[in-house]
Amino acid sequence: MPEYKYNTIIVGGGIAGLTAAAYLARAKQKVLLIEKNKECGGLVNSFTRDGFHFDTGVRALEDAGIIFAMLKDLKIQLEVVESPVSLGIEDEIIHIENLDSLLKYRDLLTKIYPESEGEINGIIKSIRKIMKYMDVLYGIENPVFKELKSDRDFIFKELLPWLPKFIFTVGKINRMNMPVEDYLGTIVKNNSLRDIISQHFFKNTPAFFAMSYFSLYLDYFYPKGGVGKLSEALKNKIVEYGGEIKTETKITEVMAEECIVKDQNNNTLKYANLIWSADLKTLYKITRTEGLLPRIRIKAEDAKNKFLKNRGGDSVFSLFIEVNEPPESFRKIAYGHFFYTPSRLGLGDTHRGELHYLLSNFDKIGKGQILAWLDKFTRLNTYEISIPVLKEPGLAPPGKTGVIISLLAEYDLFSIIQKEGWLDEFIKELENRILSVISGSVYPFLKDKIIDCFSFSPLSIENRIGSSEGAITGWEFQKYMPVINKIQNSDRSVLTPFPSIYQAGQWAYSPAGVPMSILTGKLAAEKALKQIRKFKNR
Ligand SMILES: Cc1cc2nc3c(=O)[nH]c(=O)nc-3n(C[C@H](O)[C@H](O)[C@H](O)COP(=O)(O)OP(=O)(O)OC[C@H]3O[C@@H](n4cnc5c(N)ncnc54)[C@H](O)[C@@H]3O)c2cc1C
Repeated sequence: MPEYKYNTIIVGGGIAGLTAAAYLARAKQKVLLIEKNKECGGLVNSFTRDGFHFDTGVRALEDAGIIFAMLKDLKIQLEVVESPVSLGIEDEIIHIENLDSLLKYRDLLTKIYPESEGEINGIIKSIRKIMKYMDVLYGIENPVFKELKSDRDFIFKELLPWLPKFIFTVGKINRMNMPVEDYLGTIVKNNSLRDIISQHFFKNTPAFFAMSYFSLYLDYFYPKGGVGKLSEALKNKIVEYGGEIKTETKITEVMAEECIVKDQNNNTLKYANLIWSADLKTLYKITRTEGLLPRIRIKAEDAKNKFLKNRGGDSVFSLFIEVNEPPESFRKIAYGHFFYTPSRLGLGDTHRGELHYLLSNFDKIGKGQILAWLDKFTRLNTYEISIPVLKEPGLAPPGKTGVIISLLAEYDLFSIIQKEGWLDEFIKELENRILSVISGSVYPFLKDKIIDCFSFSPLSIENRIGSSEGAITGWEFQKYMPVINKIQNSDRSVLTPFPSIYQAGQWAYSPAGVPMSILTGKLAAEKALKQIRKFKNR
């Protein structure tokens, strides 16, 4: 094997890249993690402003049999607290405490849509069935994070008894891969009810993934000090194992034949293996394939066309608010992780047909029409509300509360308005409407107590994270996904057509999120290690 300064270079210091780097550093490899921002973590990050603690990306974490298994395997101590969830529609709010809370959810829906009691029972039956599948799926620590060669107890007492159940369950799950909207269409005729259940998921989310969320609500936890502590812990582990991290370095070119990456200052580095843990469209745009074998170039060109043709999934708009009101006032209403819908009507066609019409006829319509649409969009939507100080005391100045309110948002709308030159005005209009809707419904005291507020739009996510279309969980859902989307094939999700280049993170597998980013990070590290050992044994 030629002498490289680093066996493996990892590009992208989000949770996937951090995981890959930690595993390779533990295996005593010379590893370098390159991150374009000042700090690592990507969409698993936290920051403090005026003494208020906020989480930038994900608001709380779901274990999914992966996060705790990874922490245990890497011997990382992370102090965590539970992150209970409340669900609310108009002035009906329930708190999810255990499996029986499903009955509270049924009663909530029945109170709001009494005419649809039969359909609601059908939905609850379906959620209950999926919860059983979830119990199997996440029933043991993910084997990818276990030392299978030496842990005979795990193999014989847990893995082998679990495998047949897993295979059976995967078959069931794969049959529920249709979009949740279509699935609900077969069991629910009431459009509003259908919207209320599905509108806070990405468009066309696979039914199984969406309907499994009731189980996931019980799975959420919060690292003490904020979600960013998870990234920080991994970063510290990389350094402890002797890995190197280079921040404020953006990779702008990959020369696949020479195994070289180039950064924004034209510095070059040679790799034996490269793990790309950032946006995949970018990888294919900046990779030069000259000199590669013709069959590899053809495969790479095919993959490039496929990826560039596809879009990132829905993005998100987040409003961060510093409030001069004690946490107790918020605690009386809901937990610190709250999915709230201020109107029982549901979004209907607002975020689909109507938005599509606005975008396709943008040059013909005026600001007034867009703002009228924005009224409806904010009134009928579902919000994810996160209040860090309710999860852990001390995350806000005494007697004050930091609140994050977010909703799914379409990148193209922000992009077109930016081109028209009124993005700042549009963002202000959106912020004001969100504040007015939330103050007019669930937190009536909010509007008069605001100390300051600011927001992140899909364009901020694109700029900061380098994520196409501001996506937060990789690819848009469609019939033919451009990446692996079956759990039994996840091992192959990290392969690329390029020699010695692997992929990991939100773009490598669908549906994605923090647990799958961690899993693909580990799988990519394993592939890189295998490759290094193969060369050494030659
Ligand atoms: C508001 C919100 C809520 C969410 N809720 C959930 C949830 O409930 N459950 C869940 O599982 N997930 C959730 N997610 C999604 C989850 O946070 C992400 O899918 C996951 O963190 C992605 O991790 P990653 O490492 O794959 O990628 P990223 O976090 O995107 O990291 C990529 C990194 O690469 C860096 N980079 C990009 N280009 C380059 C380059 N050219 N050179 C060097 N560095 C580069 C970026 O700066 C970034 O740090 C949420 C996200 C948001 C924003």
